[in-house]
Amino acid sequence: MSTSPAAPPSVRPRRVVTDRRGGRSRSPYDSFNLGDHVGDDPADVGANRSRVATELGVPEDRLVWMSQVHGTRVAVVDGPQDGAVAGTDALVTATPGLVLCVLVADCVPVLLADHRTGVVAAVHAGREGVRQGVVPATLSAMASLGAKARHVTALLGPAVCGECYEVPAQMQADVARVAPSAAVRTRQGTPGLDLRAGVAEILRRAGIPEVVQDPRCTVEDPQLFSHRRDGVTGRQAGIVWLD
Ligand SMILES: [Zn+2]
Repeated sequence: MSTSPAAPPSVRPRRVVTDRRGGRSRSPYDSFNLGDHVGDDPADVGANRSRVATELGVPEDRLVWMSQVHGTRVAVVDGPQDGAVAGTDALVTATPGLVLCVLVADCVPVLLADHRTGVVAAVHAGREGVRQGVVPATLSAMASLGAKARHVTALLGPAVCGECYEVPAQMQADVARVAPSAAVRTRQGTPGLDLRAGVAEILRRAGIPEVVQDPRCTVEDPQLFSHRRDGVTGRQAGIVWLD
């Protein structure tokens, strides 16, 4: 991630996306599963999360997790939390060193940063969240902390691609109402959803000039967890913080 020359080093935004490799979990969570809600051994998940903190060079209590519910609730956090933030699909902070984590296995992890004011956000953007407006809700929360859309950069992490994500036509239409570019055809020629395209469209419409997309498809890339491909499986994380 590039940083602005104007940004003081103390608020440099950092973004990371994990994959399956390098963890302790056993099949079908092998091996770097960070989800504690998918049936994996809690000790293994704990060890994997500890490794995230070690790799990032932060105390483990600085990692903030969510219990995600495919809704639009956004939590603004300013310090370590006592467990996962309940019933939330987006985290926002202006506190340096507080590490925001979103768990995914096909949904889009959206990592936002205003490098000038030092505001970052991690968003769980699945089909329902996108349809209900979790992305604009997050941008509003960032703005309330002083972020300006024209200074925000976005990274959209790995997710199921449009060619792999078949949905009923009505479901496609429901999402296309808020993001027309999400409506695509699958490889089989059936109605599909490209959620990354839809999220990118929503962000650009909100005035965000730089939207970078990780092109990897979770269904097609065996190094990534995919609920759609495997059913019972682990979760990777999208992670953003102010260094
Ligand atoms: Zn795909």
